[in-house]
Amino acid sequence: MIIDCVFCQHENLEIIAENELALAFPDICPVSKGHSLIIPKRHIEAYFEATPEEHAALSSLAGQVKLIIDRQFSPDGYNIGANVGQAAGQTVFHFHLHIIPRYRGDVADPRGGVRKVIPTYSCHRLNNVELDQPG
Ligand code: AMP
Ligand code: ZN
Repeated sequence: MIIDCVFCQHENLEIIAENELALAFPDICPVSKGHSLIIPKRHIEAYFEATPEEHAALSSLAGQVKLIIDRQFSPDGYNIGANVGQAAGQTVFHFHLHIIPRYRGDVADPRGGVRKVIPTYSCHRLNNVELDQPG
């Protein structure tokens, strides 16, 4: 437990599901209805430091959180992902998995999904349909 880590202070989190090694809570600044985070209980900085047991616990909890979000918000899809390191956009350095429900029409063109973390690049050959060209 790291004293100045916001995700180590479990009393400040609105926990919606947990197992022995991981817990889940809504993102305080959601990008879509139901956006939730899953973290290992152990303080580690990022995805690649998690043990196989922690990865299994996080995956199992992701399934439970999906059911909770499905029941509450009935989304049409999901993006799931982790930012690893400042260069990749990580701002809280306690590993967390974003579970981001998606809704038909929430963006004009959802094709590419997580590929669009680098928005100027996507594949112009995807499904033989002209998409964005590399910037
Ligand atoms: P990242 O940029 O991947 O490090 O994401 C950090 C995420 O943590 C952001 O989506 C924040 O909105 C979220 N966040 C920060 N503080 C809290 C908190 N106390 N409770 C819930 N989510 C938080
Ligand atoms: Zn922590």
